Amino acid sequence: MIYDDLKDKVVVITGAGGVLCSVLAHAYAKNGSKVALLDLSYEAAVRVSNSIQDEGYIAKAYKCNVLDKDNIAKVHEEILNDFGKCDILVNGAGGNNPKASTNDEFYSIDFKDKTFFDLDIKGIEFVFNLNFIGTLLPTLEFSKDMINNLNSSILNISSMNAFKPLTKIPAYSAAKASISNFTQWLATYFSKSGIRVNAIAPGFFATKQNEQLLFYSDGSLTERSKKIIRNTPMERFGKPEELIGSALFLSSPSQASFITGVILPIDGGFSAYSGV
Ligand code: NAD
Repeated sequence: MIYDDLKDKVVVITGAGGVLCSVLAHAYAKNGSKVALLDLSYEAAVRVSNSIQDEGYIAKAYKCNVLDKDNIAKVHEEILNDFGKCDILVNGAGGNNPKASTNDEFYSIDFKDKTFFDLDIKGIEFVFNLNFIGTLLPTLEFSKDMINNLNSSILNISSMNAFKPLTKIPAYSAAKASISNFTQWLATYFSKSGIRVNAIAPGFFATKQNEQLLFYSDGSLTERSKKIIRNTPMERFGKPEELIGSALFLSSPSQASFITGVILPIDGGFSAYSGV
């Protein structure tokens, strides 16, 4: 699907070198947007910008740490010079950390290996910072460009675990719940200023971030993966391309003009299924 109203829009994507957001970056570029690719890994962002440019579309890579306010402000200046004001911000940088996960699903006095009581506070801070502060700081910076621009919007990336926490990943679940909550707060706050704010909540997509939870080293499914598939009515993981339709739709000023504060699950029915 082609969204004519995304043509010439300046789209800033954080975490753009990653699996999911690189796919979204290609999609915005194919719709004629000028895409600024921000990532802590400059090499990853360059790889994505090269492949978008090779297809004849407009994109540029920027090294940016979403936790560094000064760095974001400097990158913003560069984008203003290169492309102009930001119309659409996609807050894609995010993820979990093994130090913020338990190995057990339920407490048992016999279980001694990485329980709730062994969680590393530094790991938990890392996860909260990356997901929440890493969404807040780019929003503070780039939303300045959007005030009273009726074509503007922000797209956050929440997760299935924001609706119901997933076992073993308490910090990541709580951090993503904060993203859903913040999305609704911002949508209300900016409702009279022309900025729509929505989020997508992907279910299970096999990427670098979760590969150790989902696959054994020989590529076979872990017990957790089998459980996920059993609880996903469509009985499979999502494909990154399956996020494109919802991201472009929610960003489209004409098609989603009255939609703000929505957290859209893209999960093969996981959130709808009670398990019975
Ligand atoms: P990914 O690890 O492939 O990509 C994340 C990107 O963010 C990486 O390129 C990384 O270099 C970058 N990054 C990390 N720290 C950064 C920082 N401080 N500043 C700037 N960039 C930084 O992950 P992904 O699976 O593509 O996930 C993208 C988003 O989707 C994340 O917010 C993630 O939490 C969310 N999500 C993923 C899934 C899934 O199944 N993969 C499900 C729900 C939500």
